Amino acid sequence: MAAFPLNLERAHKNLLTNLTELVRIDTSNPPGNETRAAQYIQHIFQREGISCKLAGPDPDRCSVLARIKGGDDPPLMLLSHLDVVPARATEWKYHPFGGVDAGGKIWGRGAMDCKNLAALWVSLMIEIKRENIPLKRDIIFAATADEEMGGEKGIKWLLENHPREMNAGFCLNEGGGWSFQVNNREYHLLNTAEKSVCWLKLTTHGTSGHASIPTSRSAILDLASILNIIGNTSLPMHLTSTAEAFIKGLAQKQPFPFSSIIKLIGNRTFSERMLKQSLGNTYEARVVRAMLRNTATPTKLKAGYKSNVIPSSASAELDGRILPGQSPDNFIKEIQELVGEEVEIEKIRSGTPSETSPQSVMSSIIREALRECRGETEVVPFLLPGATDARYLRSLGIGVYGFFPMLPGEDYHLAHGINENISIKTLDFALQVMWKVLDGYCFA
Ligand SMILES: [Zn+2]
Repeated sequence: MAAFPLNLERAHKNLLTNLTELVRIDTSNPPGNETRAAQYIQHIFQREGISCKLAGPDPDRCSVLARIKGGDDPPLMLLSHLDVVPARATEWKYHPFGGVDAGGKIWGRGAMDCKNLAALWVSLMIEIKRENIPLKRDIIFAATADEEMGGEKGIKWLLENHPREMNAGFCLNEGGGWSFQVNNREYHLLNTAEKSVCWLKLTTHGTSGHASIPTSRSAILDLASILNIIGNTSLPMHLTSTAEAFIKGLAQKQPFPFSSIIKLIGNRTFSERMLKQSLGNTYEARVVRAMLRNTATPTKLKAGYKSNVIPSSASAELDGRILPGQSPDNFIKEIQELVGEEVEIEKIRSGTPSETSPQSVMSSIIREALRECRGETEVVPFLLPGATDARYLRSLGIGVYGFFPMLPGEDYHLAHGINENISIKTLDFALQVMWKVLDGYCFA
């Protein structure tokens, strides 16, 4: 590998410039207005002689599609998105659309989700083109609009309107790459699967009446107790290939007997106890718990219209998330069993969970590239409890891996949060790792 060394100094300079400039273009979605960011990238590609075009359902909502030609092997797609979630400037240390470079970090909305990735791909595309590197396959660059609002006007539109240009064997995307510590061993998470939403409305019914005469059963009291049950019960475990590979990967790097304890996280009977023993009450433990089952989180309540009237019905909305291999019907059945037959359950909205095999040529190349750049870590497959553009590609049979390699200490919780930032050291690290990935998979 590394037959073509990366000009790190130049790639670093381009990455920093393009990331700060992209952050400065406000693409808060809603409304999005991604076209200016798309044009910014188009200008760069035109200057570099990389074939590129803008495409979208309306003039303000353009995505970018670019391509460097190579041999006949199935193309690789480098995916990212241009829109960001909104930010309130008064809450931030630096302006969220300032693209400030301070304290070894780039600050601003999108610095971590996911203008970092867009800028990384732009920078690597430039290097491949300038060095005239012979390629076994085409490299497609796609930076989409509308990811944060479901992708209707971005990836979904592109797949419907430019299917041939979007055809690829594998795709590299966001939604993974964070480092993770268990018992002083370091791991990096490779997104190979994502849950999907399955939002539900639960309604209880009871007798209405005058509130001056209390009763122990009512629509509201019944709803309160079933929500309490939902909050305190874990739904059944379903082991996906990704979760299985994740647990195996964690265990492999641990000494005995810790390795055996970790393996039991995948065992229905011991899972909870072993999870507590190995990860305690951490955020990581909650994430792992969510990787192993469908989940339901109450987010909205509605009941009553007057303080002295006991209402005849009460309802709650649940943000349900289902695993790859699970269906909305199957999830509704799990909830119904938990709350009882008399509770009315209605599906509000659902999507399709997605998974790419944790074992493939691409995952091996990623593992090898990371090992070369950071020997002490291990790549483990990961199931993202949320969702990205990946699901649309995976449903077409394209293998998608979410991976923006980050150094330990990088705070990935900052995506969508206040003071989102990314360290320059991580950006350099990502450049080096992903160059090796491109080398391993694309360079002839
Ligand atoms: Zn994102």
